[in-house]
Amino acid sequence: MKNFNFKSATNTKEATKLATGRATFLAGGMSLLPAMKLRLAAYSDLINIKKIKSLSGIKVSSKSLRIGATTTHAEVSSSKEVGKSIPSLAVLADGIGDPQVRNSGSIANNDPAADYPSACLALNATIHTSKRKILADKFFTGMFETELKKGELIESIEFEVPEKSAYAKFPNPASRYAVVGVYVAKLKKEVRVAVTGAGSCVFRSKELENALSENFSPSAIDNINISNKNLNSDIHASAEYRSHIIKVMARKAVSSC
Ligand SMILES: Cc1cc2nc3c(=O)[nH]c(=O)nc-3n(C[C@H](O)[C@H](O)[C@H](O)COP(=O)(O)OP(=O)(O)OC[C@H]3O[C@@H](n4cnc5c(N)ncnc54)[C@H](O)[C@@H]3O)c2cc1C
Repeated sequence: MKNFNFKSATNTKEATKLATGRATFLAGGMSLLPAMKLRLAAYSDLINIKKIKSLSGIKVSSKSLRIGATTTHAEVSSSKEVGKSIPSLAVLADGIGDPQVRNSGSIANNDPAADYPSACLALNATIHTSKRKILADKFFTGMFETELKKGELIESIEFEVPEKSAYAKFPNPASRYAVVGVYVAKLKKEVRVAVTGAGSCVFRSKELENALSENFSPSAIDNINISNKNLNSDIHASAEYRSHIIKVMARKAVSSC
């Protein structure tokens, strides 16, 4: 854990240039440092990106809301622009961890129980990186895995502004990570429902999307069967329980839209 070089970048070009070999980016360090301490990850160089001013901030237009990569959860939850444009995103950010954790943020980690990946999928987000634009549908590829290539830096995330949306989470009482979290969004052209915490990676529920596209109301969810085939079973909840909670959280989210 202690054998690494600490480097700070002041712009994105410098950060990507420094990120060679076994280097990685350091944002808030809330996930990266515990992983290194537990020897689950090891790097030769940590590139601090918190000093890059262009990576922080919130921009709103009528169609989309763009959040810079190092904007903190606290900034998102208290932002008037987010509250007006996509209030469900402010609610999601407010429910992450505790106040200390809420002062950092990243989707690159793709923890299977993290909240933001569900917002990215449901709100048809585009991830802007130092190299390209990646649609959220293609970004989250597996447990702690993303489409990001070595040295590719996330610069911002652009969310589509929905007609209606809500996020409902059944949190782990200790960490506040999602045992199950369901993000429901009625966009201009489609209804999207993303589920986090329940499987090895965030996923869209076609069953819920089809039912809510026909009838966007809590009752549309009543007769749906959510298969528990690929869901997690662990000390917090069985796969059967998670499949039940997905429906409960989906109903709760649609009711609060
Ligand atoms: C006690 C506790 C409770 C938590 N509860 C929740 C919760 O309820 N819900 C939830 O969703 N999360 C929760 N988290 C995780 C939290 O949201 C972290 O802030 C987040 O996972 C990591 O953000 P960070 O800025 O600290 O990133 P870091 O730890 O610095 O980085 C994490 C990974 O992302 C990479 N990375 C960071 N920024 C970029 C970038 N711009 N481009 C490319 N790669 C990048 C790093 O190299 C590293 O691999 C919790 C964490 C803790 C410690």
